[in-house]
Amino acid sequence: MSHADPSALTRNEGIVLAALKSARRPLSAYQIMEHTTPEGVRAPQQIYRALQGLVGHRLVHRIESLNAYLVCDHAPHEHQSAFAVCTGCGKVEEVPIGKALGGLLRAVATTGFAVQTTHIELSGLCAACGEGTKTAAG
Ligand SMILES: [Zn+2]
Ligand SMILES: [Zn+2]
Repeated sequence: MSHADPSALTRNEGIVLAALKSARRPLSAYQIMEHTTPEGVRAPQQIYRALQGLVGHRLVHRIESLNAYLVCDHAPHEHQSAFAVCTGCGKVEEVPIGKALGGLLRAVATTGFAVQTTHIELSGLCAACGEGTKTAAG
């Protein structure tokens, strides 16, 4: 079974994961805390530890450019994903990139650089924000 067993999560991990799932958008650790405080998880150390576990399980991804965390849409997965970050609304789309990464890694390898980890973020406008610039709704 490759499926992550929810019972394998700690209580705090479960609470933090539920907060991220209900948000459906990236949350900073402090935003997560607002959701989890009613559940009794209110210490930054508890939040960070739970996030570390969830990232380790690949149920949650850290979005570096936002310093925030996003629940994985594709869990459980072994594939690499790119993260398209909207500069308009802060929405992040997880895009599985599959074999596309291979070409990039081969190009990097020609420089002699040994890649250890990859994390790809792209910034731009999501479909809704792209529309908004045309119609100026709201
Ligand atoms: Zn993912
Ligand atoms: Zn947007």
